[in-house]
Amino acid sequence: MTELSGAQVVARALQDQGINELFGLMGIPVVPVAQAAQRAGIRYIGTRHEAAAGYAAQAASYMSGHVGAALVVSGPGVTNAITTLGNAQENAWPMLLLGGSSALDLTTRGDFQESPSLEHVQPFVKWSGRPTNIRLIPRFIATAVREALGGRPGPVYVDLPGDVVYDKADESEIEWAPRVPPPPRPEVTVESVTAAIEALKSAESPLIIVGKGAAWAQAEAELREFVDKTQVPFLPTPMGKGVIPDDHPLSTAAARSYALRNADLVFLVGARLNWILHFGLPPRFKEGVRVIQLDIAGEEIGRNVPTEVPLVGDAKAIMAQLNDHLEAHPWELPEDNEWKAALRSEADQKRQATTSMLASDELPMNYYRPLKEIDEALPRDAIIVSEGAKTMDISRQVLNNYFPRSRIDAGSWGTMGVGGGFALAAQVKNPDKRVIALEGDSAFGFDGMEIEVAARYRLPITWIIFNNNGIGGGPPAFIEGRPPPVGAYVPDARHDKLIEAFGGKGYRANTPEELRAALQEALTSDGPTLIDVVINPKADRRAQEFGWWPSGETHAKQETPAKKA
Ligand code: ADP
Ligand code: MG
Repeated sequence: MTELSGAQVVARALQDQGINELFGLMGIPVVPVAQAAQRAGIRYIGTRHEAAAGYAAQAASYMSGHVGAALVVSGPGVTNAITTLGNAQENAWPMLLLGGSSALDLTTRGDFQESPSLEHVQPFVKWSGRPTNIRLIPRFIATAVREALGGRPGPVYVDLPGDVVYDKADESEIEWAPRVPPPPRPEVTVESVTAAIEALKSAESPLIIVGKGAAWAQAEAELREFVDKTQVPFLPTPMGKGVIPDDHPLSTAAARSYALRNADLVFLVGARLNWILHFGLPPRFKEGVRVIQLDIAGEEIGRNVPTEVPLVGDAKAIMAQLNDHLEAHPWELPEDNEWKAALRSEADQKRQATTSMLASDELPMNYYRPLKEIDEALPRDAIIVSEGAKTMDISRQVLNNYFPRSRIDAGSWGTMGVGGGFALAAQVKNPDKRVIALEGDSAFGFDGMEIEVAARYRLPITWIIFNNNGIGGGPPAFIEGRPPPVGAYVPDARHDKLIEAFGGKGYRANTPEELRAALQEALTSDGPTLIDVVINPKADRRAQEFGWWPSGETHAKQETPAKKA
């Protein structure tokens, strides 16, 4: 006879499912669950806000190819984590949220934090459930994992009522569930493979677009082989960066706009024609662009632009099928092809246009020069977490990624406040790699307290804050008698001092030299560091042909409100 508590059953069920880390925020009734998990050998990382726990769980999923988990308290604990479910859903990432809830016995009485959590999470999850008996816990957790990983991945929720957590039962009475196997990797028919290759061969200016679905599928070796075999140029989406290294000669990242506008055929591999890819529509894409679309989700096929060749299934499996076909029937886009030459010359021009900004010595610094310093200082296998508007966008152009899943950012939902949780998970999952959290001062404000978590667990994350006094930049000083501009923050704030409160090391960088020196120390430190980088509030990205906002408008310029009469 071994008597187990509900909390212990949860811990063992998580372990049975291969979940070895738990991010969470403690309170009634989940403290025993975290304690049981810790005793069972699961690494528990306590965050300072439920959102950080949820973002950490989904980043852990994305980095590992499995399901990351977060544990929060009932009511407001769960609702605080709901945005993270939305973010995972939009990014098609799995995650498991475990939420405590008030005792089943007390339902309707107005219990402490009594809340219809299952209803609250409903629009944001693929599946949710509540084991109403200690016996059922493992089956619910296994089902949650299966639902999170199957088909298009997504978030799931398991509700843990207090009386179930505190209940006791003999081990033999529990319905233990076997480990959910990795999801199947569906393939396509031989006819589809042939159709895809024939379409590619018939194109004059083909372009492969590599998205984060390919990164999730861990299709890096297969994609690399496909690009090397076909010699077709490719473009990574923001998080598709690194699936094939950014310094691959066929990368068109430096000529992105030109490549999108002039491709007569695009082969989407785990990437959606949503706002990130300008819906696949003119003027950003060629009128009548032909599409080969590889996606695990059949319902995604044909969104916005008709798909000529649908390849519904797993990116790793299907890219291997395409490679097998090419092995038997070799074909490549010739080196002297006009399209490739045009892409190269466009990329050269674009690179030249940024040379002066990358080398600029002007103070306060623009965005490009400090990013170049960071790019040069980072080891090749660094993991870059990035959020903020200009900070994130420009960093995507300047910072290279050489390994898959080494860039995670605000993603398909454009969510701010993801950086702390993402960085914690990235470092926990990759203890031997350097992790930077590159954030605008605004983005950092959402979850800056997570630096304490890094200090507590001695995670050597380097936060790099691009400080321009606010959202889109604020004035160097407020004007007496006028309210601060709507997006402005206290000018010249010293974010570097915050981390010192927790025993981390802070640096302030006003110049490229100061930044270089700070990076050298920070990137070899064994504890967390934070570099506050002073950016000219007026600095902007290189002149762009199109605004990022699909309607063609750009951010409303911030103005100081007129003095009240
Ligand atoms: P990006 O922002 O990089 O363009 P998206 O999130 O828009 O990426 O698209 C990723 C796509 O990848 C989603 O439509 C998702 O269904 C798909 N996907 C997820 N897992 C796989 C997989 N194993 N194989 C192929 N596609 C996948
Ligand atoms: Mg800012």
